[in-house]
Amino acid sequence: MKDQGECCEPSGETLREAAENRLANAPPPDSSRPADELLHELQVHQIELEIQNETLRESQLALEESRDRYVDLYEFAPVGYLTLTATGQIAEINLTGAALLGVERKRLQHRRFDAYVAPKDRERWRRVFVAAMGADARQQADVGLQRGDGGVFPASVDCLRMGGDGAPAMVRVALADISQRRHAEEELRIAAIAFESQQGMVVTDPDGVIVRVNHAFSELTGYADYEVIGRPPPLLKSERQDDAFYQQLQAELKATGYWQGEIWSRRRSGTVYAAWLTITAVRGADGEVTHYVGAFSDITPHKEAEAEIHRLAFFDPLTNLPNRRLLCDRVDQTMAASSRSHQYGALLFLDLDNFKSLNDTRGHDIGDRWLIEVARRLQAGLREGDTVARLGGDEFVVVLAGLGVDAQDAALHAGLVGETLRASIIRPYELVGQEYRGALSIGIALFRNHDASVTEVLKQADLALYQAKSTGRNSVRFFEPAMQAALEERGALEAELRQALARGQLQLHYQAQVDAMGRVIGAEALLRWVHPQRGVIPFARFLHLAEEVGFIVPIGRWVLETACARLRVWQAIPALRGLPLAVNISGRQLRQPEFVAEVRAALEDAGVDPGCLKLELTETTVLDDVDDTLAKMSALRALGVHFVMDDYGTGCLSLLHLRRLPLDQLKIDDSFVGSIIDTPDSEVIVRTIIAMAGTLGLAVVAEGVESSAQLERLRACGCSAFQGFLFSRPQPPAEFEAHLAATPASL
Ligand code: C2E
Ligand code: MG
Ligand code: MG
Repeated sequence: MKDQGECCEPSGETLREAAENRLANAPPPDSSRPADELLHELQVHQIELEIQNETLRESQLALEESRDRYVDLYEFAPVGYLTLTATGQIAEINLTGAALLGVERKRLQHRRFDAYVAPKDRERWRRVFVAAMGADARQQADVGLQRGDGGVFPASVDCLRMGGDGAPAMVRVALADISQRRHAEEELRIAAIAFESQQGMVVTDPDGVIVRVNHAFSELTGYADYEVIGRPPPLLKSERQDDAFYQQLQAELKATGYWQGEIWSRRRSGTVYAAWLTITAVRGADGEVTHYVGAFSDITPHKEAEAEIHRLAFFDPLTNLPNRRLLCDRVDQTMAASSRSHQYGALLFLDLDNFKSLNDTRGHDIGDRWLIEVARRLQAGLREGDTVARLGGDEFVVVLAGLGVDAQDAALHAGLVGETLRASIIRPYELVGQEYRGALSIGIALFRNHDASVTEVLKQADLALYQAKSTGRNSVRFFEPAMQAALEERGALEAELRQALARGQLQLHYQAQVDAMGRVIGAEALLRWVHPQRGVIPFARFLHLAEEVGFIVPIGRWVLETACARLRVWQAIPALRGLPLAVNISGRQLRQPEFVAEVRAALEDAGVDPGCLKLELTETTVLDDVDDTLAKMSALRALGVHFVMDDYGTGCLSLLHLRRLPLDQLKIDDSFVGSIIDTPDSEVIVRTIIAMAGTLGLAVVAEGVESSAQLERLRACGCSAFQGFLFSRPQPPAEFEAHLAATPASL
């Protein structure tokens, strides 16, 4: 640079020479002129010379300044400048260029520029360089450059050939670090991808006018971008949320610049959907909101799943009535309200009578239909604020609130509601073409304040229901404090029953069966609980309890083993040897997979003839699972065990089933026997059963014979085997055996 500056500087020598020339060529001094004049001219000359010198210095200074400016501009230009030789060596580089490469300038001199190009871009750079050398046009490329410290940065390289016309060809390169640009581009690319995400995106101006939406927005709302841009979002509003909701949203957005929540929106098609929406305010450098960005997704499927989960958790799927959980919640709320208002409320425990037999005889589908219809009728019979829930099976609970502060009035009202519900349930039903009549037992417990817990009140109503059922079904009963004692007693009995087996308090009593001549032809084993304080309790009275405690199966097993052991004893007594013994089998016992094996084991352990054992089943037990029953009966029949259909005539066992089952005997239910004198229908039924049994080759026995009149009528109907108090009551083994030893059996 210096050289260049120097070559342009005007030479001092040349001026001197010019002055000397001028002096030499000047005309000789005019001696005729006065000396003053000459002196004056000399002085003018002198001044002239000084002025010329001054101008010269000034232009010299200006030149220097301009050179410095140029140097500054060149060295500190925002881009790096390099001059490369035709072979790609750095002939010259400005300070910016050296700084970009992170190498001292003097070290760069004569180095190959491509040594600083990132290896992956080197080939491309060479092509650009060759192109630049071969053409007058600018060549541009973005390449990675390697700094002295090894770091790589993206750079734009701009090449232009210089020289020619005899001068060596060079390439002038302008270098710029484009990291920031790249970063900004990357950001933009990410933003664009993010904007076109799965979420619906909408950008509005500060006044809420839509300026941009993405593709997902159109997919979710059904609106194309041109339909919404320039319009306010309220066109997406649904009426599900009121103005107050939107005002609240605006207020929060204004205060915090952010809002997130669920919102109900409307699609173009008009359908309403739930969206999860996030709105964020975008502020400019001055802090003013420039835009709002809303991102939303359709959460309708989640909402539906949520609603379904809620429904499953709190509602009975069959009837859609609240379930036990929701009921407890509602009772709790009603009680809380009652402790504020001091009004009575009532809990009605409802149980459908004979639901099980409908289920058993007509199938579960029909049973379900009935339950649905019952639920509908119960709901129809209640006021708006009352609750009806299904606890499961055939149990329903109704909660009545606000029955006033007078206990009598409250009871009257609850009783009336109970009677209304009962009346609506007993109206005939049309179930798949057949008429069905149901019945309902109701137990009612009143409550006030939060005096008792939900469970307690439920227990009280349940107890009242138990009373309603045990005193003849299809009735309404109130819980009375006396019942509480019964409730507690039941609890105590439950605990005692658990011990009864281990304490040897269970006994089998035996009741004789006789022929037309009054001779003993068999016996039935009947279970008794010989309670130390309560005396002898027949099985029918603790059957429910045993079921609740889960004792039916172990008790059944004990009965079988005891009965077989008794048969073994009888083998040694001539009067009793070979006497058939009937044992009652419960449904639950029969359903046990190991039932057949247990009967066989009981027979083998006792070493008795299976032909002496008769198992009594009821129609309901059989119908519960006909195929399973048939398989088990057949297996036992093969061993020689006999079967009796107990309580025959009360169920709905079809003739077809009766024929399929390997039965030996039908036992006419005691209800027909008991009414045979007064009810002609009963006699007809008894005759029919006897005739049908004859056709099927089955023996018949009538049970519950209490009077000679009944005996005579039964005989007249063709019956020849009897059981009942008329002949003997169920007796403990010793008594029974002593009795029989005195009056030998007829075998
Ligand atoms: P079931 O098998 O029909 O038994 C006949 C019931 O009638 C017995 O009642 C018996 O004491 C009673 N009885 C007999 N003769 C007369 C009579 O002339 N008049 C009246 N009114 N009743 C009479 P119990 O012992 O209370 O048994 C009731 C039911 O409990 C039985 O009905 C049977 O289904 C069941 N049960 C009894 N013992 C057992 C047992 O060991 N296992 C199973 N699974 N069930 C049993
Ligand atoms: Mg029986
Ligand atoms: Mg019976």
